[in-house]
Amino acid sequence: LPVIRAQSSPDYTPDSKFYKVEAIIRPWRIQQVSSALLKMGIRGVTVSDVRGFGAQGGSTERHGGSEFSEDKFVSKVKMEIVVSKDQVEAVIDKIIEEARTGEIGDGKIFLVPVSDVIRVRTGERGEKAERMTGGRADMSATALS
Ligand code: ATP
Ligand code: GLN
Repeated sequence: LPVIRAQSSPDYTPDSKFYKVEAIIRPWRIQQVSSALLKMGIRGVTVSDVRGFGAQGGSTERHGGSEFSEDKFVSKVKMEIVVSKDQVEAVIDKIIEEARTGEIGDGKIFLVPVSDVIRVRTGERGEKAERMTGGRADMSATALS
């Protein structure tokens, strides 16, 4: 497969210190994606099993107007990753690299500004709460020193 990168970021993205990268991908790619993210220092990830429809399913048949029968929904996995702004593009490109097959149904990524991060254990907020020991910021600090 050719390497695909996300196109350059648009000017409509609201400016924020933190963003949530929300990726809906194929369930059988989740291990590949999460281990690649771990290797690049991403340690905080939330995953849920979801069902949905896009171009891959759901649109071919309609019964009684807008009612979709349950079996039209395709199983997917939703990954949610909150990172600082400077880490967003690398995370998006890594997800594309690891999740892409080139076939319909590879999924979609939503980028959501996040106004704050609060660590329950310590009450820390903002950068202190978003940073994780051994995380991407630690890794790049080590690489520079
Ligand atoms: P602590 O240092 O107190 O352990 P932590 O920042 O490592 O705090 P956890 O308490 O381990 O966070 O996180 C609980 C859950 O929150 C994780 O299992 C994960 O689902 C989610 N989570 C944590 N950080 C992130 C993040 N940056 N992005 C997405 N989900 C996260
Ligand atoms: N940005 C954090 C760090 O550099 C990592 C965030 C995450 O793992 N989701 O430590």
